[in-house]
Amino acid sequence: AIRLSGVTVRLGGLTVLDDVTLEVPHGEFLAVIGPSGEGKSTLLRVLAGLLRPQAGTVEIASPPALMFQDDRLLPWRTALRNVALPRDLGAGGGLEPREALHLVGLDGYADYFPAQLSGGMQARVALARALAQSSDVLLLDEPFAALDALVRERFNAELRHLHDKTGRTTVLVTHSIREAATLADRVAVLRGGRVVEVLDTREKTRLPTPGATETRLRELL
Ligand code: ATP
Ligand code: MG
Repeated sequence: AIRLSGVTVRLGGLTVLDDVTLEVPHGEFLAVIGPSGEGKSTLLRVLAGLLRPQAGTVEIASPPALMFQDDRLLPWRTALRNVALPRDLGAGGGLEPREALHLVGLDGYADYFPAQLSGGMQARVALARALAQSSDVLLLDEPFAALDALVRERFNAELRHLHDKTGRTTVLVTHSIREAATLADRVAVLRGGRVVEVLDTREKTRLPTPGATETRLRELL
């Protein structure tokens, strides 16, 4: 569903992505992990078509639905109307807004305004909004960074559940080794703008447990 081939991005004289080749099959859940400032968001922006690489090719089956960490809700719209925004802009066709809110556990909050919701709830509304877009591809850039550990854990489980239910190709950028190892089918490790390793967490023979994947990720990071 997504294919990057020899992608190189230079920004302000710096090579941020260096000859990145990466394929994400349809329906896969891929995590991208790496130190701060080494190109993860840039990679997602290239995937989203927001940034054009200086070299290489990007193939993506359909325009992706995006959720970035600093996503903002429109304060004058209720939770439901925020989720309905893609539809109002002609980009709907994903989940029905009410269904999307239900999936992120916010049934009772449709008529609340963002200022009446906690930060974690606002992040869920932003995720619901991404799910309301018609796309086979979901790109998430540290969507839960602002959440407390407990909410985050529950949210992670929800995200994996949503993925299994909707079958969307999902690319999740995260700083959390644990999150990457337990949520994703594969984990791409980005260092210095290069994909230095891709671990398959489903490959039971090589990496029998999430624990083994985590150990390997710790070695790489
Ligand atoms: P973090 O984990 O902190 O979010 P990241 O891996 O997402 O980091 P990027 O945002 O992709 O990192 O940035 C990678 C590098 O590219 C950084 O060194 C950053 O300074 C540089 N960079 C990003 N955008 C620009 C830009 N528009 N102009 C110049 N340099 C940029
Ligand atoms: Mg980033």
